[in-house]
Amino acid sequence: MNLNGKTIVVTGGGQGLGRAIALNLAKSGAKLALIDLNEVQLQTTVSLIEEAGSQAKYYLANVTNESEVEATFIKINDDFSGIDGLINNAGILRDGMFVKAKDGVVSKKMSLDQFQSVIDVNLTGVFLCGREAAVHMIEGKRKGVIINMSSIARGGNMGQTNYAASKAGVVAMTVTWARELGRHGIRVGAIAPGVIRTAMTDAMKPEMRQRLESMKPVGRLGEADEIAHTVNYIFENEFFTGRVVEIDGGLCM
Ligand code: NAD
Repeated sequence: MNLNGKTIVVTGGGQGLGRAIALNLAKSGAKLALIDLNEVQLQTTVSLIEEAGSQAKYYLANVTNESEVEATFIKINDDFSGIDGLINNAGILRDGMFVKAKDGVVSKKMSLDQFQSVIDVNLTGVFLCGREAAVHMIEGKRKGVIINMSSIARGGNMGQTNYAASKAGVVAMTVTWARELGRHGIRVGAIAPGVIRTAMTDAMKPEMRQRLESMKPVGRLGEADEIAHTVNYIFENEFFTGRVVEIDGGLCM
């Protein structure tokens, strides 16, 4: 795939899936604008992209903050003279049971802050970055691509009321934007990874990890590069829009 001269924004580009996605796009010739909260990690991603022979700049911004997101996308649009793609990847987990009851006594429940913080990053952040990217793509008459990171948890998952709701919302936004933006030549897709080896999943208890590995026909967790490869596939396939690609090693068949 040739992405020479294309500028692609990756949120959460400091580590994990965001870093792998950015590096893979850079290897296909894209220039990268990376958004994250972690400057040290961002600097490492930029160095890796430069070693791969492409260009990257990083922007410290919180995807939940409307004015920061607006200013960041204006800056990126100016710095790179346009925006051709967005990978809406920044996301967090704050797992916990919704309600826990023993002997008729409610002993634990997910706090509103625990719920809202995940919705803020995983859903509102995706909305804000998607909106700003679309504005600049349309103004610049770019036939852009937006890819939103959902999850197989979008169907509902124990201990993930907040996360599952956010990731289901991401799919609803993906389809809505594909319908609204198609007339401007912008395609929108989503990826729903299964359990992939990153810092997000390193925190998992070993017994849980073993159980998940044994449930998958491929018998292992996924690798970040396997998700990055899927991003390139969506960029490459001009007939792809409004759909979700599940990459989960067969976990949810
Ligand atoms: P990660 O925790 O390794 O990286 C997430 C990045 O997002 C970090 O660099 C973090 O600093 C950044 N970030 C968090 N909040 C931010 C904010 N408010 N503003 C800007 N940046 C922020 O996670 P990951 O495993 O690489 O996951 C990336 C995406 O893929 C997430 O949306 C996640 O929900 C999704 N996902 C991951 C898995 C998995 O198994 N790893 C599975 C399904 C979906």
